Amino acid sequence: MRRLRILRGKEKDLVKDLKKAALSLKKLGKKYGVSRQAIHFFYTRRGIKRPVKAKGHQTEECPLCQKLIQISKKPHSEFTSIHTIIKITGESRARSLRHLRMLRNRGLVSQRFGRLRSKRVEKAYAIYFTKRLPIRTIGRMTGLNNFYSVIKQHREWGYDVPPSLYVYDGQERSRVWSEIKRRKQR
Ligand SMILES: [Zn+2]
Repeated sequence: MRRLRILRGKEKDLVKDLKKAALSLKKLGKKYGVSRQAIHFFYTRRGIKRPVKAKGHQTEECPLCQKLIQISKKPHSEFTSIHTIIKITGESRARSLRHLRMLRNRGLVSQRFGRLRSKRVEKAYAIYFTKRLPIRTIGRMTGLNNFYSVIKQHREWGYDVPPSLYVYDGQERSRVWSEIKRRKQR
């Protein structure tokens, strides 16, 4: 009981501190020069209720989560590949993925954010969003011969793919089609 006796005279302060919950039992023990157990014994015996600390990961206080949310708010962020996202965060792959999953589960970023794995597809989309070029040309530039099907698939999965900046006129369309036909015949 000698340990508790040290608390005498400081009890009021300790009760106040216990109700604040900002300090852990270990830190309180250090502050009052007693063991963690002594602090625990003190407040359970007196029936002091400690405020419940918010459970789980605190995304508002996590710099990595905040950075991920920031990236996700940029236009077309669903088409930023996971490689690029990790590079921007400057964190390890495992840590970035863990926090990203948490944010998706809590609905703080889009379900599709961070799912794109192909750097080539990322590059193709970057061109698609900014340049007035036919989809086939972009595919050729990036080594994707199926970029058109990639876009179609993404649209089916709910990705927000705006219409191509390139306007296909009737002549262009028939030229594309006749070329496709010619290719098939080969
Ligand atoms: Zn986090």
